[in-house]
Amino acid sequence: MTMLPPPSPKKLGLVIDLDICVGCHACAVACKEWNDGGQFGPLPDENAYGAEPLGVWFNRVHTYEVESKATDKPAMTVHFPRSCLHCETPDCVTVCPTGASYKRAEDGIVLVDADKCIGCKLCSWACPYGAREYSEQRGVMQKCTLCVDRIYNESFEEYDRQPACVMACPTRARHFGDLGDENSAVSQLVAARGGYELMPEIGYKPVNKYLPPRTRRDGCGSRSATAVEDKVDFSTASPLLRWIDKVLSR
Ligand code: SF4
Ligand code: SF4
Repeated sequence: MTMLPPPSPKKLGLVIDLDICVGCHACAVACKEWNDGGQFGPLPDENAYGAEPLGVWFNRVHTYEVESKATDKPAMTVHFPRSCLHCETPDCVTVCPTGASYKRAEDGIVLVDADKCIGCKLCSWACPYGAREYSEQRGVMQKCTLCVDRIYNESFEEYDRQPACVMACPTRARHFGDLGDENSAVSQLVAARGGYELMPEIGYKPVNKYLPPRTRRDGCGSRSATAVEDKVDFSTASPLLRWIDKVLSR
């Protein structure tokens, strides 16, 4: 078993705006190329989309169609990027038998030490968000690192010290910052837009937050939409995200 550090005041994470994500996958591709392109060397990712791609995807984008209960309202498409949420109290760390899976005390980033990982996959079973990816090639677990090798890299210009996914997003749907500081830009964004954490009932306390889609001028959106298959009642707060919770929980 691996211990979690005491809660850190600094909580680095992402805020993802589902209102403006267009599902282009630029974030996922930029992430893979920065973190696991080729075979951990200056090689091109020659088989990125094949049956046996080189490297793994730490970030995935799912697309859902959400239908309104009212028959005269158009359906709405929602793109949902998914990666590690850098939870505050995640079992993916505590189940690790070797200490390979750990949470940093100084900024809350959850990482995997490849030298200690024995590839038992316990952490991926403990992650309810499907955020861990096992590398068959390396025999170790991998996951989003928040680009820890970029964000503190003093050889980069200040502007470039952000995760690759944030840099690549053409619509600025992704934001990076300290969610432990209530005055940070990301915290203010979450407060202004009703930012939401996924599956709070599980108690992992994800640091990353999602901003719900705004209600559309035609009435379709976060107040009135209903999932096609589930006929979920979206009359409660943040209904679209509750539906995504439900999809993730399957
Ligand atoms: Fe662990 Fe999954 Fe939370 Fe990331 S999202 S910290 S892998 S439980
Ligand atoms: Fe959405 Fe931005 Fe990722 Fe494209 S790059 S899928 S817009 S979050």
